[in-house]
Amino acid sequence: MLFGRRLKNPIKIADKGVVDWKYTTCGYCSTGCSIEVGLNAEGKAVSARGVGDAPVNQGKLCIKGIFEHELFNSANRGKTPLFREKAIDPYVEVPWDAALDHTAAEFRRIQEKYGRDSIAIVSTGQILTEEFYTLGKLTRGVIGTNNYDGNTTLCMASAVSGYKRSFGSDGPPGCYDDFEHTECLMAFGSNLPEQHPIIYWRLKMALEKRKFPVIVVDPRVTMFAQMADIHLPVTPGTDLVLLNSLAHVILKEGLADRAYIDAHTSGYDDFAALVAQYDPITAAAICGIDEDTIRHVARLYAKAGAAMSIWTMGINQSTHGSDGVAAINNLNLITGNIGKPGGTSLSITGQCNAMGTREWSSCSGLPGYRALEKEKDRETVGKFWGVDPEFFPKQRGLFMTDIFPAIETGQIKALWLVATNPMTSMPNTPRIRKTLQKLEFMVVQDAYSDVETTQYAHVYLPAALWGEKEGCFTNTERRVNLVRKVMEPHGNAKPDLWIFNELAKRFEQGRKMRFPETSAGVFDEMRELSRGRMLDYSGMSHDKIEAQRGIQWPCTDGAETGSQRLYTDGVFQYPDGKAKLLALPFIDNNERPDQNFPFWLNSGRVVEHFHTRTRTGKIGNVNKFSPTPYMEMNPDSARELGIGHMTYARLVSRRGFAVVLVQLTHRVPHNMVFIPFHFHECVNRLTLGLLDPYSRQPAYKQCAVKIEPAADQLAAAAANVAARSF
Ligand code: SF4
Repeated sequence: MLFGRRLKNPIKIADKGVVDWKYTTCGYCSTGCSIEVGLNAEGKAVSARGVGDAPVNQGKLCIKGIFEHELFNSANRGKTPLFREKAIDPYVEVPWDAALDHTAAEFRRIQEKYGRDSIAIVSTGQILTEEFYTLGKLTRGVIGTNNYDGNTTLCMASAVSGYKRSFGSDGPPGCYDDFEHTECLMAFGSNLPEQHPIIYWRLKMALEKRKFPVIVVDPRVTMFAQMADIHLPVTPGTDLVLLNSLAHVILKEGLADRAYIDAHTSGYDDFAALVAQYDPITAAAICGIDEDTIRHVARLYAKAGAAMSIWTMGINQSTHGSDGVAAINNLNLITGNIGKPGGTSLSITGQCNAMGTREWSSCSGLPGYRALEKEKDRETVGKFWGVDPEFFPKQRGLFMTDIFPAIETGQIKALWLVATNPMTSMPNTPRIRKTLQKLEFMVVQDAYSDVETTQYAHVYLPAALWGEKEGCFTNTERRVNLVRKVMEPHGNAKPDLWIFNELAKRFEQGRKMRFPETSAGVFDEMRELSRGRMLDYSGMSHDKIEAQRGIQWPCTDGAETGSQRLYTDGVFQYPDGKAKLLALPFIDNNERPDQNFPFWLNSGRVVEHFHTRTRTGKIGNVNKFSPTPYMEMNPDSARELGIGHMTYARLVSRRGFAVVLVQLTHRVPHNMVFIPFHFHECVNRLTLGLLDPYSRQPAYKQCAVKIEPAADQLAAAAANVAARSF
């Protein structure tokens, strides 16, 4: 095929011999793009394209989605279970039965010796919703440990916690279509063009039709900040001060929506008294945004007919992440911007199915947004599953970030990791390395046998990739979309659903319960458990989801399709139906730069990679654009320290050190550096990760480092290469 520039250097698209296109949903980020994988006559995946009539991406894909089909044949896929007696022995290949029998026997031995909660299970935001539901059933109903969480604690827990505190329930109330209606958009700690390129494209399309102000709050001059009308380079960790001050101006100048506040919120008096302390002059000295700009932005937001806020990790990954989310909700509640077209408080989620785990995994409670703390919920689920409700704990156990300290102190003896890689993703990885070595038994279940944590495991269970199995993901806007099976699992790898079901059979209680073997069978159970609830799935089926290219919950039985927005009637999930305005004092508890460690260390994503590069690090067409760890550094600071562009520098924090390649740029201020978080043995060797008191999410983005030129540039280059190798 030829098109464009026909006479000079015509663009040629190679015919890859696709004979069949298979519908599925992208397995990287939470945008939820519908994707078709092209298979050639031999059944090999050779191409991918966006689905033109999909409401989310309308035919577009980002670079990760375009090359996602290459994952099927990528290096170091696990193809058979591995086992070793001691974590220092070499692995040997074993049949599935042997690996699962041993795992179940070890879990039983450890629970009998140390108690039910001596096992911890940490899962992910990557597997299918039906698999989350089944893992929850196995964990809550059979194994019975209460120390069960997902790696979503590292990215979304503050959003969940903030929604629950403000609205009485988790659940993002808005949708991408809100861009088409809003009159003002404020983004907090979100570099949308790199993190969620297709959502950014949706925003750009809306802006091309109708101009409205875009305000970006970020300490760094990100790509998003560069296109914004107003960039607020807030001092790291002080977003809560800015938000309280915006609310201060709105209340003081009579710009609040009093009718909405009176009808739909509680807690106004305490909230108003608190924000009264955050006048723009006081706030400016803390958050670094001048008082006139605070007033200007507050007026712009409050006077817009509809205004919306979006955010990601810049808010969530903080010692007051949950408060930051609640403060964004406050801002939208006092301006009447919840549940209306263009007026919303929309957390942009991270992983492809972070929402699925929030809804159905039972990590923080019981399936379908049910709570362990509520007797009625325990009874409903116990009856449905055939489990004595007394078997369920009456409150949630440890979060992921509290599980590792509990291993250190000997409270937890066994760990089962499902599609998560804490050796790269947790803060202070030198400490995590020592922690994992204390375990009596560890299982890693992952699609890749070279994921860093397998170095410390006793059993490795090879899992199928996203397009090798069937089920659902839920995206940022609550849209449930379908992953169809594109091809058979690699080697003898198995779908996570199969692994959970097989493990359940190895426990007496598991044999008494029903564990549907098919994804559709599990979906039927979820549909029943969701009936009449906020996240009602009862009107959905796998085929209907595919036909509509995704359906947003709630979708009630008999409804033609789902609902775009929550809380359109102003009725929230608290018993009185009102949302809570929360008084949120700012507590400055982060590690801050000082004389010895004079730089803020910030971290985030690049467009080419996903999380710990377990997958994208194997894809040449992605990896070649971002092959190595690097650090953005301000040229003036670099000159003062004698550090040159594209030389290596050594960073030191109170936790450890890392060596990285320096890129000089004015994207970061004089007292800050930025490093992508994707690379092993890099930024998380340095981070402190103090925890939010509500969500237990770590503050990855606020810690202090010192920087010096690497004395031996050749050795530094070798260390940097080691940091990216698998
Ligand atoms: Fe996949 Fe996200 Fe890219 Fe869409 S934006 S193709 S969901 S990685």
